[in-house]
Amino acid sequence: MTISTPNTPKHKKAKALRPGARRPAKELCSECGLCDTYYIHYVKDACAFLNQQFDNLEQETHGRTRNLDNDNETYFGVHQDMMAARKKQPIEGAQWTGIVSTIACEMLNKGIVEGVVCVQNTQEDRFQPMPVIARTPEEVLAAKVNKPTLSPNLSVLEEIENSGMKKLLVIGVGCQIQALRTVEKQLGLEKLYVLGTPCVDNVTREGLQKFLDTTSKSPETVVHYEFMQDFRVHFKHEDGSIEKVPFFGLNTKKLKDVFAPSCMSCFDYVNGLADLVVGYMGAPFGWQWITVRNETGKQMLDLVMNQLDTQPVMSQGDRKNAVQQSIPAYDQAVTLPMWAAKLMGVVIEKIGPKGLEYGRFSIDSHFTRNYLYVKRNHPEKLEAHVPEFAKKIVGQYKLPK
Ligand code: FAD
Ligand code: SF4
Repeated sequence: MTISTPNTPKHKKAKALRPGARRPAKELCSECGLCDTYYIHYVKDACAFLNQQFDNLEQETHGRTRNLDNDNETYFGVHQDMMAARKKQPIEGAQWTGIVSTIACEMLNKGIVEGVVCVQNTQEDRFQPMPVIARTPEEVLAAKVNKPTLSPNLSVLEEIENSGMKKLLVIGVGCQIQALRTVEKQLGLEKLYVLGTPCVDNVTREGLQKFLDTTSKSPETVVHYEFMQDFRVHFKHEDGSIEKVPFFGLNTKKLKDVFAPSCMSCFDYVNGLADLVVGYMGAPFGWQWITVRNETGKQMLDLVMNQLDTQPVMSQGDRKNAVQQSIPAYDQAVTLPMWAAKLMGVVIEKIGPKGLEYGRFSIDSHFTRNYLYVKRNHPEKLEAHVPEFAKKIVGQYKLPK
């Protein structure tokens, strides 16, 4: 592959695939949007599911690969700082307190970028993703809150090059950012900023409906939901009420196939190639969790520090037994009766892992499950597709055949 220097996008172009056409990654495609553009030319290198290349891309992006002798780096990726934070004045209707939207608005207001790739929803359906290049804070704010479905964020890449923009912020999840990093030099930008969120267990729009219908008492009024650190799914409804369903009471039999195969094969939960990552699972309940990966990420966070309360990250408890026990339970699709699930949720919340240890709990549970999924469904890919850090994490547990 020939990589041209920045600002000279003299790259090869290929014909984008038509909507609905089978993607090169086949059933593992996460619909990241790359193949909706002429950058499909680079798909063999760029696709997170065809070419796992964390080491290369971490080296190019952060100047080094993650240090596998350091437990926090093994789990949370290359970073120079981590903290818990929340907006002093949260944005109404954001997923959490709106730190992501606030950073994007500030970058536009201060002229640091000319556009922001983010994802709004269609008029007809609050969960149907509609990627855009926002040029005003209002357009960024119209993209607040998760669209908890696979979203083709990179489908706007051709627009970027054609618009002549030189400074751009992209907001996205791991698989989108891996593909973006591979074609970054082809975009003709002077500077690309990447603001990531962690991501796990994503679904197609149909899958989302099945999840809502099976799990919530009132699926049609759900405005957002999150798998919380108290081991419950919190559904927020239109009238502002919160419905809580314990993880252990989820109908695992019905939900087993609901997650997209791409997400069952993903090991980039923490978005290792973004400059700055904003999630929640390594922070106390109600706070967001911030990982600053490099100097660019620090500059982005500094823009909003005066709008945030912050505290150091903490870690408490021991996840290992809970993870080991959850492996066969998930594998055999065990569902507890609701009373037992509630009781277990309460007990685990009292004595269970908190802060970074909760983050490790969630990573361990998902990586062991995903490792088994790849081993069973794509054994020929296992060795090359699973990155070294994930092999190390999975290696701590006894897995069924
Ligand atoms: P807001 O200010 O509300 O902004 C949200 C931003 O997310 C918007 O800019 C929008 O463009 C972007 N966005 C929305 N949907 C998508 C999508 N489908 N793909 C790409 N970008 C999108 N954090 C964890 O710590 N653990 C998790 O397990 C976890 N799972 C997640 C799963 C999904 C599918 C997504 C999209 C996010 C997940 N996150 C997770 C991140 C977390 O839920 C919040 O998005 C993050 O903390 C930012 O909150 P905020 O209030 O600052 O965002
Ligand atoms: Fe193309 Fe993205 Fe699907 Fe890979 S995940 S096949 S790059 S659309």
